[in-house]
Amino acid sequence: MIHRDSILEWLIVGGGVHGTYLSNALIRQRVTHRSDLRVLDPHDEPLREWKKCTSNVGMKFLRSPKVHHLDLEPFSLKHYVECESCEERNYIPPNDRPSLELFNRHAENVINRNGLKKLRINDAAVKIEPGRSFHSVYGSNQTLKTRNIVIAVGNGKPFWLDWASMIKTDGAKIMHVLDNCYCKKRIPEQAVVAVVGGGMSAVQTAISLASPNREVVLISPHSIRINNYDSDPGWMGPKYLRKFRSEPNYEIRRRWISEARNRGSVTHELYRNFALLRKKKRCRFFAEKVVLADPISTDMILLHLESGEITAANAIVLATGFEQDVPGGVMISDLAKDPGFRCASCGFPIPDRHLKWWDGIYLSGTLAELEIGPSAPNLIGARMAANKIVSEMVK
Ligand SMILES: Cc1cc2nc3c(=O)[nH]c(=O)nc-3n(C[C@H](O)[C@H](O)[C@H](O)COP(=O)(O)OP(=O)(O)OC[C@H]3O[C@@H](n4cnc5c(N)ncnc54)[C@H](O)[C@@H]3O)c2cc1C
Repeated sequence: MIHRDSILEWLIVGGGVHGTYLSNALIRQRVTHRSDLRVLDPHDEPLREWKKCTSNVGMKFLRSPKVHHLDLEPFSLKHYVECESCEERNYIPPNDRPSLELFNRHAENVINRNGLKKLRINDAAVKIEPGRSFHSVYGSNQTLKTRNIVIAVGNGKPFWLDWASMIKTDGAKIMHVLDNCYCKKRIPEQAVVAVVGGGMSAVQTAISLASPNREVVLISPHSIRINNYDSDPGWMGPKYLRKFRSEPNYEIRRRWISEARNRGSVTHELYRNFALLRKKKRCRFFAEKVVLADPISTDMILLHLESGEITAANAIVLATGFEQDVPGGVMISDLAKDPGFRCASCGFPIPDRHLKWWDGIYLSGTLAELEIGPSAPNLIGARMAANKIVSEMVK
């Protein structure tokens, strides 16, 4: 219980993958005591966004290896499997990637073992007011005072293409797979469903929706690219990061991040699974952009493609990832108005090498990518962020 007038040592804003990992790291690496740290998040359960997104797309296996998870010790998941005598099939090559089910079970174990749920305060931060001796974080129901803040608010909003927003307003059957309101059950069973997007989420969604009675049309702006990694593993260590972090020009850093990300690519096994579906004629594929969508009735939409071809669908599912804007909305843009909170020309914060954006205000996840690099939003990004923040505290 936090008293109205008490001042916390640490408040983590956002209790998803990053916020949960950081809370564990700050306590177990003795940066602070449990009683002095809280995690502010509107969801009462940790990892709610992760679970929603991964389950919506129908993900079966992670893209990252078994050493990327929510515990501090890299081999924790491996040891967990040995103790629980899990099946071998819980990992797949390359790099022993765990099943989502195993990853989530291990994450629950880490959360329960370390009492991380008890650290949560259910509320969303709407404003941060930096101060000299403490900062104030305004939620919708309360104001919290804290000496240190880590902002770990995630990736931002699902990205809607213009034509898609327009037909949604007109009431067409269209949803985004990463939206809170996405519900697979609302997609008709005997129907043609167009999935629009070209990366892991799109291909996973197409595979999970295809069934003997439901034909899926995957429309990707490019042919399916294969890559087992979100970005080259060299971005997780000194091979590329040394040069990246010594580059003083943030426009160059931004360019390197964009070039490094294998956006719109899928792992080998997903590619194979998708090819199999096409062979069974449960999926069709267009490597083309949609230029216009025309809802001709309540359950029929015509999609006009760049080549002039037209394809019809009874429902559309967008799998176009997240907006590329700076996450955190007004809370972050208000802070960024103060010249003390440095930002690059792309609008993203420029934290120091310990991820400090201002005295006692730290960043993790996408917000920290100009310092962490292309893997910032990923599971490994949480570990890198924690190492940087902790290394300042225990130096
Ligand atoms: C389908 C899918 C599959 C993926 N697979 C992998 C993978 O295999 N390996 C990998 O490394 N990465 C993967 N990723 C990427 C990565 O795991 C996610 O980007 C990760 O969940 C980001 O963690 P986060 O804590 O930054 O954000 P989230 O997990 O989204 O958490 C952010 C939290 O902040 C809270 N929040 C937001 N605003 C506020 C506010 N104002 N006040 C308080 N709380 C707030 C939200 O409620 C949420 O709980 C995947 C992503 C997706 C979508």
